[in-house]
Amino acid sequence: MADRDERYYRSCLDHYHVSRRGLFRGLFGGLKNSQPQQQIAVLRDIARPPTALDEALFTALCNGCKACEQQCSQQVIEWGDDNKPQLNLDYNHCTQCAECQRVCPTSALSSPIADTEYRPIFSAGCLNRVSGHCQTCVEQCPQQALTINNNQQPQVDSNRCDGCGLCRSNCYIGAVTLALIIVT
Ligand code: SF4
Ligand code: SF4
Ligand code: SF4
Repeated sequence: MADRDERYYRSCLDHYHVSRRGLFRGLFGGLKNSQPQQQIAVLRDIARPPTALDEALFTALCNGCKACEQQCSQQVIEWGDDNKPQLNLDYNHCTQCAECQRVCPTSALSSPIADTEYRPIFSAGCLNRVSGHCQTCVEQCPQQALTINNNQQPQVDSNRCDGCGLCRSNCYIGAVTLALIIVT
């Protein structure tokens, strides 16, 4: 039975690597030859540590050991009612240090894509939109994923953004919120 379980999960993981790559290729690859039209994808409704597998596989594999929560120096991993780790970027950002993945004893955190799946949304109160005098989020983004568009609105490139949340914690007027969506 143990062998069977291992084979089952190995097969699921192989499929995962293919299907997730396919998903991202589908989301972003088609963009090159397509019209300027927004695509929105919601990949899960609970934020997980950045290398979490697809939700069904993640919840099947995570044994609730709390090693990731204890290891996170940013303290952005909290314990959920589902007895699994959840990401909370309300008070700090994720440095993408990969320590949670390193200590995970199962394959629950084994995605080759380190992405929290959060993307920033900018409110009408953004100082650049109001006066054109702030570029803090653009300057601080470690992935160079933000630009100011012609309407003086910060704009995220979902291909570059890894959902770290630094733009949110750096915005001193609170104009940035994070949502579990990928907008292209
Ligand atoms: S990558 Fe690092 S900072 Fe981010 S959740 Fe994991 S341990 Fe915490
Ligand atoms: S370290 Fe891995 S198995 Fe343990 S709680 Fe975190 S995700 Fe689950
Ligand atoms: S979440 Fe992180 S990577 Fe994405 S735009 Fe904000 S600072 Fe940049």
